[in-house]
Amino acid sequence: MTKFKGVRIVKEPAYAASYSEFDETELMDGDVTVRVSHSTVNYKDGLAITGKSPVVRRFPMIPGVDFAGVVESSSNPDFKPGDAVVLNGWGLGETHLGAYAQKARVKGAWLVPLPEKFTAAQAMAIGTAGYTAQLAVLALERHGLTPERGPVLVTGAAGGVGSVAVTLLAKLGWHVIASTGRPEEADFLKNLGAAEVIYRAELSGPGRPLGKERWAAAVDSVGSHTLANVLAQTKYEGAVAACGLAQGMDLPTTVAPFILRGVALLGIDSVMQPRDKRLIAWNRLARDLDVEKLAALSTTIGYDQVIETAGKILKGKVRGRIVVEIP
Ligand code: NDP
Repeated sequence: MTKFKGVRIVKEPAYAASYSEFDETELMDGDVTVRVSHSTVNYKDGLAITGKSPVVRRFPMIPGVDFAGVVESSSNPDFKPGDAVVLNGWGLGETHLGAYAQKARVKGAWLVPLPEKFTAAQAMAIGTAGYTAQLAVLALERHGLTPERGPVLVTGAAGGVGSVAVTLLAKLGWHVIASTGRPEEADFLKNLGAAEVIYRAELSGPGRPLGKERWAAAVDSVGSHTLANVLAQTKYEGAVAACGLAQGMDLPTTVAPFILRGVALLGIDSVMQPRDKRLIAWNRLARDLDVEKLAALSTTIGYDQVIETAGKILKGKVRGRIVVEIP
């Protein structure tokens, strides 16, 4: 096929996303062409499709930051037609034509082989959100933290990053405290392995510089006052892996947790992670992530539901992870 289906974002006459058609000649530079079979909807995809934040920096754009598929053609010696591959980030859906399309042309250096343990759909149930949760767990471990040090808090727990973080940390033996704004998801979170569920209003308002020491570690996908309160309630020499901004990009904190308790704030970026660290993260996901739990936290949608789902994820109405089947 020279024509293929894809979601098109345009900026003129007004910012809009629609189900459209592309020609292969529109594909951007790259040494590997992939027939995409699955994608997912992350929070960032919601921002891109709705235009709520300036995620897209090239027009027209095909949104979608993650895909799994099969190599169709390659001039890269590391990949041959038929290879099953995964791509997370690297500017896909932002500066490079992305994943909500039947085809993608990318640099082979951006691809990782699909781990044997996972199908393409499962790799997208993980997606950038799940791989970011794994990066956060690895960062806490690099800081020397273990379950013996005390509980771990996960904020935005019913979301994508949060639900995978809960699952991974529980499997590793942590006492997981899940913070959510959706108390009706308490059973869902306990099923993933949360030992306690707390309501996010406890953490989302302005707080004191230091509070009672409650957790040794945390994975935060929320930012703003929540992250400030998480830091203020982290135990002596604990650490917080910060990966998101669902509440806000600000961080109204003080230096008190850092200089009085030696708390560390560990920044997590998934987009530009070098390939060797991606392979480590995917190997750990293959080792630690229970595929039954992954099925419990994911929902499958059709390609033609992507645009409406983008609006839902920004409203916090998506539970866990979404897999998109590309026709
Ligand atoms: P989701 O929408 O799936 O999850 C976000 C969760 O945050 C929601 O489910 C909700 O959890 C909680 N939340 C939403 N709004 C608010 C609010 N106003 N106040 C407090 N909590 C809120 O998104 P993802 O899991 O895909 O992404 C989470 C965050 O991580 C995003 O900000 C995203 O941009 C960022 N991210 C960063 C990456 C990186 O490389 N650093 C990679 C991937 C994601 P609940 O209902 O349980 O309260």
